[in-house]
Amino acid sequence: MAQNHICELCNRNVPIITKHHLIPLAKGGRKFETLSLCTACHQQIHALFTNRELATHYYSLESLKKDYKIIKYLRFIENIPGDYELTIKKSRRVRKSS
Ligand SMILES: [Zn+2]
Ligand SMILES: [Zn+2]
Repeated sequence: MAQNHICELCNRNVPIITKHHLIPLAKGGRKFETLSLCTACHQQIHALFTNRELATHYYSLESLKKDYKIIKYLRFIENIPGDYELTIKKSRRVRKSS
């Protein structure tokens, strides 16, 4: 039986969990905390925010959950089964800056 995990952002039960570094590794994130996120949330965070924004504004679960784009996303994702594979595209703004 596959072990299930709970995503810290959307709180869904998911088969695969990934580690998100609250301070991106590229910015020296190693020593900082990580979040256990489902692949959808993880992709979503990196699609919405650049590494710089993550490092300066969204370095805690609380600050992520307060962002209106995340709030909107969470309202949508809570109705999607945890094992459903979503395709998440990066916003043009984020693509440009990376
Ligand atoms: Zn999630
Ligand atoms: Zn990440």
